[in-house]
Amino acid sequence: MVIMKKLRASVRSHKKQPANHTRRGKCTLNSSQATPSGLDGLAKRKREESLPASVSPYHLFSDMADVTAFRRNLLSWYDQEKRDLPWRKWVKEEANVDRRAYAVWVSEVMLQQTQVATVIDYYTRWMQKWPTLQDLASASLEEVNQLWSGLGYYSRGRRLQEGARKVVEELGGHMPRTAETLQQLLPGVGRYTAGAVASIAFDQVTGVVDGNVLRVLCRVRAIGADPSSTSVSHHLWKLAQQLVDPARPGDFNQAAMELGATVCTPQRPLCSHCPVQSLCRAQQRVEREQRSALPGSPDIEECGLLAGLWEFPSVTLEPSEQQQHKALLQELQRWSGPLPAARLQHLGEVFRMYEGHRRGACKGFQKVPGVHSIKPEETQPGTASPG
Ligand code: SF4
Repeated sequence: MVIMKKLRASVRSHKKQPANHTRRGKCTLNSSQATPSGLDGLAKRKREESLPASVSPYHLFSDMADVTAFRRNLLSWYDQEKRDLPWRKWVKEEANVDRRAYAVWVSEVMLQQTQVATVIDYYTRWMQKWPTLQDLASASLEEVNQLWSGLGYYSRGRRLQEGARKVVEELGGHMPRTAETLQQLLPGVGRYTAGAVASIAFDQVTGVVDGNVLRVLCRVRAIGADPSSTSVSHHLWKLAQQLVDPARPGDFNQAAMELGATVCTPQRPLCSHCPVQSLCRAQQRVEREQRSALPGSPDIEECGLLAGLWEFPSVTLEPSEQQQHKALLQELQRWSGPLPAARLQHLGEVFRMYEGHRRGACKGFQKVPGVHSIKPEETQPGTASPG
């Protein structure tokens, strides 16, 4: 087992040095994705501690012109290509803001874990039967379950009805008007649903990240780190908030979801039809690597979300030689149990080559000052080899 340690100084240097470190055939955030299961806690904690400081501009939208172009391209594509869905008709035609929010809320709850094609019929029947919050509030749970039958995850229907009753009985029949209050006051409404309802029904300028948006953002900014980690998720929500169009937040969020559902699909994304292709780092990377005709060039599915990377466990340490050995030993003991200090062996320094991308490519070397191994009790110390 080899442990690579990174000095904070080298992490901080990423801010000055736009190039990010990449791995062959993958597009990743610097703190990469998968770790052996036994290391999950340690690796995840370390990622969450170190990632915000180490996010390269490569994974951000640093140029406002790119943000503007992303919004413009995505919205004009959406205006041309958007699917004709019943809940969109409600949003467009319903003047009463509470009914509009209710119509969006029902659609968002039904769409959780369920395909659009399946939801359409259920949604249409639901809204015919209970077109207002008051209608739903006075329905019986049996009726709700009956209509929901076949859609799965029955608690969703029950929660919708509980929420409708709360709005009618406790909130004067008015839906909470912001993402924050929707999430706070309505049962079963999480961050995503709250943001979707607030942006689509009330035009609140708030970004959202669902599975489709997550995939788009990961690819557009070549993010391969584990999106379920707190720090990566935080980064993605920040990106969504930065990108959302202030003039058309609801349309923008729907457009981003639509793009993920119909163009930037998990397998075989239709990059040649993508309105944000010119801003997509995953696509740029794939094109560049394919032009190079090197064996093992990545495809889009490998970039971003599906990077599926492994890395040597790494520990961020203060640049004090005295403390490093002790701190490293403590971290190792957290997942390996008791480990005598004598078995932690310093092997030496290595240099690794990296390639970075920001308005062109550059290459360089990074010094990794400490590589350690846990010495098996019965074997002799080995020697370090360049990584
Ligand atoms: S260019 Fe391809 S990978 Fe990039 S966002 Fe568009 S469809 Fe997705």
